[in-house]
Amino acid sequence: MLTQAPRGTKDVLPQDSYRFQYVEALERRIAAEAGYREVRTPVFEHTELFLRGVGDTTDIVQKEMYTFKDKGDRSITLKPEGTAGAVRALVEHSLYADALPCKMYYLNAPIFRYEAPQNGRLREHHQFGMECFGAKDATADAELIMAAFHLLSELGVKNLSVNINSIGCPQCRPKYHALLKEYLADRIGEMCATCKTRFERNPLRVLDCKEKHCQELVKDAPSMLDVLCDECREHFAQLQQCLAAAGIPYQIDSRIVRGLDYYTKTVFELITTTKDGNLTVCGGGRYDNLVEQLGGPELSAVGFGMGIERVLMLLDGEGIELPKPNQYDVFVTFMGDNKIAAFSLVQQLRNAGVKADMDHTGRSLKAQFKYANKTGAPLCATLGDDEVASGVVKIKNMNTREERTVAISEAAEAVNDMLK
Ligand code: ATP
Ligand code: MG
Repeated sequence: MLTQAPRGTKDVLPQDSYRFQYVEALERRIAAEAGYREVRTPVFEHTELFLRGVGDTTDIVQKEMYTFKDKGDRSITLKPEGTAGAVRALVEHSLYADALPCKMYYLNAPIFRYEAPQNGRLREHHQFGMECFGAKDATADAELIMAAFHLLSELGVKNLSVNINSIGCPQCRPKYHALLKEYLADRIGEMCATCKTRFERNPLRVLDCKEKHCQELVKDAPSMLDVLCDECREHFAQLQQCLAAAGIPYQIDSRIVRGLDYYTKTVFELITTTKDGNLTVCGGGRYDNLVEQLGGPELSAVGFGMGIERVLMLLDGEGIELPKPNQYDVFVTFMGDNKIAAFSLVQQLRNAGVKADMDHTGRSLKAQFKYANKTGAPLCATLGDDEVASGVVKIKNMNTREERTVAISEAAEAVNDMLK
């Protein structure tokens, strides 16, 4: 118990964290290129925010939230998704009062959901998300889809499908609800227990059910796309024009409704096929009414969330390896009484931006070399009595065996040159 992480959580170990860092660096770059700036919101919020923001007919609110009372008897919930917190911050700090759109992203945000742990389903996972407030045009929806697509294709993901749909707006969706309910009414006896309650409270969610049998039932359900109002239809057409102009392949999938209640118009998912079936790595859409619903002004918004563990899983599945940085550029070995000289050289190298280290455990010279080799350091610098007396250091390339003797004061330049 004591030495076992809670179910559904995963440590990222020192030897593996470079993969997260690599993806995060790319996320920062791609978000910045599109003018998005980072927002950091708390890991927990008032439960109320998610009840109102995520919607009480969703799986998240109904069964997945980590909710508890704090010592002040307030109901607190660990973030089960990233958007509500971003909207709360936008409203609290009146960010909408600046010139719009207001573009923000978050990365490495811990997300908590009490789910049955299984492949690709954790109780704590991490999301990268981008949110754009105050842009009603479909170009904003498209730029977000492009950013998510770019990220995954730059990582080398091949097997990627962009699926889009429109779920309309409060003008046209009631008409669809009625049509869908009519269709589902004849089949209600065959639906799973959860879908029976969905049928009453939010029939759209039946389309999203993961039960095989329910999926079969809705195969021939009417499509929202047939009843979109003019505005929604035009918006969806423009989205497709943008994606076509950008040359990315996409598919229309009228079954996508997304797991959160707040979406309007565009919804999308980026899906890959793995040997174990389909894996959704990214989901998002437009939520033009959420800001107002959470106490802000009427403000259109669109965004996505991407699960980073799933991205990495996908890379594993496709056999894509991310570049692994060396722990050290150079390992400084020393003989005899030259420990302090080695220490000084290590500090000098680090000050010059070189990743350097030395032995801290009292190893023999031979064992120092062996350790250096184990860390994968491409270079070893050696200080013996003769070198220290004449102010030089021997630097050896561990792969090519090339060796140079240089002034200690010029060690960093020599290291950088030998690393080329
Ligand atoms: P699913 O249909 O798989 O349950 P979702 O609709 O609940 O997904 P979102 O709320 O859209 O997922 O979350 C956005 C992304 O976060 C997902 O596309 C996925 O990559 C990731 N994600 C969601 N839940 C988990 C989880 N339990 N473990 C790991 N990643 C997750
Ligand atoms: Mg889910």
